[in-house]
Amino acid sequence: MTYEPVVGLEVHIELSTKSKMFCSCSADYFGKEPNTHTCPICLGLPGALPKANIESIKFVQKLGMALNCKAQLSSKFDRKNYFYPDLPKGFQISQYDLPFAKSGYLEIETENANRKKIRITRAHLEEDTGKLTHAAVDGRRVTLIDFNRSGVPLVEIVSEPDMNSSFEVKDYAQKLQQIARYLEISDADMEKGSMRIEPNVSLRQKGSKVLPNYKVELKNINSFKFARAAVEYEIGRQTKILEKGKIPDLETRGWNEAKKETYSQRGKELAHDYRYFPEPDLAPFIFKAQEIATLKSQVPELPGQKFARFTQTYQLTPYDAQILTRDVNVAQFFEETVKIATGHGLSTKEIANTLINKNVQVNSTLPAQLVKSLVQSKAKAKISNEELTATVSLVLKENPGAVSDFNRGKETAIMFLTGQTLRKLKVPVHPREVTEKIKNILASKSQG
Ligand code: ZN
Ligand code: MN
Repeated sequence: MTYEPVVGLEVHIELSTKSKMFCSCSADYFGKEPNTHTCPICLGLPGALPKANIESIKFVQKLGMALNCKAQLSSKFDRKNYFYPDLPKGFQISQYDLPFAKSGYLEIETENANRKKIRITRAHLEEDTGKLTHAAVDGRRVTLIDFNRSGVPLVEIVSEPDMNSSFEVKDYAQKLQQIARYLEISDADMEKGSMRIEPNVSLRQKGSKVLPNYKVELKNINSFKFARAAVEYEIGRQTKILEKGKIPDLETRGWNEAKKETYSQRGKELAHDYRYFPEPDLAPFIFKAQEIATLKSQVPELPGQKFARFTQTYQLTPYDAQILTRDVNVAQFFEETVKIATGHGLSTKEIANTLINKNVQVNSTLPAQLVKSLVQSKAKAKISNEELTATVSLVLKENPGAVSDFNRGKETAIMFLTGQTLRKLKVPVHPREVTEKIKNILASKSQG
């Protein structure tokens, strides 16, 4: 029997606002001394009152627009109750039935280069938790808690289980990252933990339209490569279980990169009861259509739109357009360079090739500098062609013996002549080019 993976994704992205979600502590905590970015609110001390960071709400609304979600005019925060040491309040402020964005889609690419829409269930705003580190202090095994991350705004983007391969999972996650970066709402850096992805993986008979009656959640994945590997591993593991006529356990599994396998973290957690209820310390939100329209006007051209425009306007191949629109700074650099290059005899293709193949530092180079150096190196290439003819002619004149050897059919003489020419040239030229030139000149001479 052939199985088909059914995958949905939960993605958490930390928002790069100046301050945290419900207090004025700096949200820029990465690499900072533990517990230095804290206050009674983000430490969850009794009686501390949260105040919502409006900037982070706008970030989620913009992200929702970029993900084709319907505008939500009313929304609120809810308490998600659970106990864990990294959550001192005993609840996380999150959103339940009225998220800031819902019912959208993200278009991705399949391995056959087809386009496919992945439905977005919702994008809601919540606060991040503290960070636990398991360590040994004075020979004792301890768990350390750093609350710098506690209260940092997080957007959680939940998709429908519409992905059917590890390739699609990777493409979806990468496109989300790209959108977050285009919107400048997060650096969405997986290694730093500012973007975290959790695939829900199960298998069904190929061709079936029914959702499987179980799913396995994968956690602790901090790169796109590992995400693909973890999903692939799960496909293999679950196939074996299903082939035995059993059903894989409902569980949460982590990814062990050293062993290249997933491992069980937590068992059956079917009926979560988070006892969600409206957060009483924060008033609900009502947005005016005008406010939504203003935000919409601030959404920049998105990766997919830029890609389409680049292939049309600049006649780029999909491959080139893909690379040039991956990073908005590179895309902008490309367009500025093209603008300046008009009238300098440089083609759009030449500029695209240079940006793709040469390591151009777009943050420290000016488009005008690149145009100048491209024009110069083209001029140089032209001179060396004329120079080449002149140098070859000179070498032929100086070595009549080798020339007559070659004319009598001694092929190796050409290698000697090539070597002599290369020695005289000041600019590096490929030996094959020199050999060609010698053959051409000799051929034209013998004809004349
Ligand atoms: Zn705080
Ligand atoms: Mn969450």
